[in-house]
Amino acid sequence: MGPLIHDREKIKEIAVEKLSENDLFHEYLRRRDGDDLDKSVHRLNNIIAPQIDCTACGGCCQQLMINVTPEETITLSGKLEVSQAQFKEKYIEESLQGKLVMNAIPCTFLSEKKCTIYTDRFKECREFPHLHKSNFKGRLFGILIHYAMCPIIFNVVEELKNEIEFVNAGI
Ligand code: SF4
Ligand code: SF4
Repeated sequence: MGPLIHDREKIKEIAVEKLSENDLFHEYLRRRDGDDLDKSVHRLNNIIAPQIDCTACGGCCQQLMINVTPEETITLSGKLEVSQAQFKEKYIEESLQGKLVMNAIPCTFLSEKKCTIYTDRFKECREFPHLHKSNFKGRLFGILIHYAMCPIIFNVVEELKNEIEFVNAGI
């Protein structure tokens, strides 16, 4: 495994250069066995994610719409010592279907690049970029769309190309 790239500006530049390559890689992955891909991605994610400092990045906090559960509004309003109604009024938007999302992008709880409620952050924040989950192949679009934003995704994808010998795949 080569050295990881942490700098998001550098990653954005590389992402532009690799637009066509990544389109081909997307197509290539669709022809691979999904279980084998999951094994490779889980192994690479276990190695790479601990080496990336999310508190020095905050990319997802700056760009994603965060889903929130009703239980989380109760827990966090308690931590912030406001009522649940006040919490929802200030931070949450509710869809007609009753789905809750944070009402600001970047997230209101982001300060500089750090989460000010890090130990109490939402489940969705803890789970992003979801590379520990199964069905990488079925979630390719949603993952690769964040390749330029998330250093974890970027580095896992680049290592995956090496691991499954994408360059030598004769595309
Ligand atoms: S709650 Fe924290 S981790 Fe989640 S999006 Fe907001 S700043 Fe980021
Ligand atoms: S999950 Fe990705 S985008 Fe979010 S803070 Fe960590 S490295 Fe950055």
